[in-house]
Amino acid sequence: MTFATRSRVISNRANKLAQRSATATVGSRQFSFDKHAKPESFATKCASLYHPSEKANRGLAPPVYFGSTYLLDDADHGARLHDKEEAAYTDDDGFVYSRWGSPTNEACAKQIAALEGVEDTGGTMLFGSGMSAITSSLMSVLKTGDHAVFPYTVYGGTHEFLKEFALNWGVEIDFIDGAGEQGPENYKKALRDNTRIVYCETPANPTCRITDLEGVSRVVDEVYGERGSSPNRPYILCDGTFSTPYHTRALELGADVAIQSCTKYLGGHSDILAGSVSSTSSEFLHGLSKVQKLITAPLNPMDSYLLMRGIRTLDVRMQRHGENALEVAKMLEAHPLVESTFYPGLDSHPDKSDKDGCLVAKAFRSGRDSEEDKNIMKQTYGGMIAFIVKGDGDEALMRAKKVCEGLRVVNLAVSLGSVESLVEHPASMTHAMISREERLAGGLEDGLIRISVGIERCSDLVNDVKNSLDSVMEEEEQQQRRAAA
Ligand SMILES: *Cc1c(COP(=O)(O)O)cnc(C)c1O
Repeated sequence: MTFATRSRVISNRANKLAQRSATATVGSRQFSFDKHAKPESFATKCASLYHPSEKANRGLAPPVYFGSTYLLDDADHGARLHDKEEAAYTDDDGFVYSRWGSPTNEACAKQIAALEGVEDTGGTMLFGSGMSAITSSLMSVLKTGDHAVFPYTVYGGTHEFLKEFALNWGVEIDFIDGAGEQGPENYKKALRDNTRIVYCETPANPTCRITDLEGVSRVVDEVYGERGSSPNRPYILCDGTFSTPYHTRALELGADVAIQSCTKYLGGHSDILAGSVSSTSSEFLHGLSKVQKLITAPLNPMDSYLLMRGIRTLDVRMQRHGENALEVAKMLEAHPLVESTFYPGLDSHPDKSDKDGCLVAKAFRSGRDSEEDKNIMKQTYGGMIAFIVKGDGDEALMRAKKVCEGLRVVNLAVSLGSVESLVEHPASMTHAMISREERLAGGLEDGLIRISVGIERCSDLVNDVKNSLDSVMEEEEQQQRRAAA
């Protein structure tokens, strides 16, 4: 099945799953309810649960199953469900308690597993946020004395978790420059006998540098042997939130674990927090299920439903994000107030060359399922752009703030990946609490602005950003004229 079809039609499969579990539940429910007396008293009527008729199961959209607990056939059934080893999905024996699995969550997880390409070879687990997905994954593997390798340009929350928790728990961490052609070698140099996690984030925030996942997987093979050959081989984790599986299927490129903050593009509407973890390793998923069951909890039913609803338009949204972003990036690159523009669709991107196999080409597959799709499906490069306005220090900082505040279509707000465009200025907003030195070391220049380009009409966005940049220039020219007069 093609990617586009998977993201739109999968709800049928999800629906079947839900129906199957509904039927199973209905079966046991009738069994157990038959046994129950019909509520006669007002108080018992209030306290009882009433269900729709069985025909309600024919709704095309998957049902939202709220509920913390499930009716059991008999005591043995309860014993069986408690006895089971943790796994990504429930089997035909049904659900027991929502902290270790529930139907709407599972339907959504299966849809994301399909998008990540592991519907038959692995599984996906859903968490209450991207951070929960990341920290659950790390906690499921790392213990005192273990070593992990991370890139410098890692999501702020991930970095904070490492500093505030992982280091205190006695985990050793090395940070390296994971981007570009040199990235895999830098990873290789950091690998040790006790390395358990090799962590990648691609494209990186905010400069959209690309990590060569195939290269990283190759150096891990070189040091520890191929996957499955040694229990000491570390897991390769990849946070692919910026690209989504529409562009980058991290598991196909050699990662063991693909992580998404579904709060962003997969959800796509700035109305939920969610995170997914997909893997082909049943050993990893088993450990992750334990963390979810005992520490972090699964994504709730309503947000699982909203996430599924968002995913159904992922394919068309990603295409439009990419088309719009390219035009905004071209305008930025040509604007006199802009020092530099970082966008993988521009020839100036450091990981791009005219070679077909360049890192950018590999990272942005644009929803294509096969080589032939290249003839019919347009190449796009995602919706994230970073650019730096001209000027030194405070001058750039003030200009960037004014540019952000002058926008009238693009919204001043953190986060990314939604249908509406968002802008943020890290130096004065998300990273204002970090020292200037640290900020600059991470590439966050005073004048750097990040735009998450939405799916509005393209010209509205290009004009909005251009008008704001023009206004800042005009205002400065007027001030200079007044000063000279
Ligand atoms: C937003 C984000 C996260 C964290 O996701 P939440 O859903 O906000 O917890 C992790 N990684 C990247 C790259 C992100 O953009």
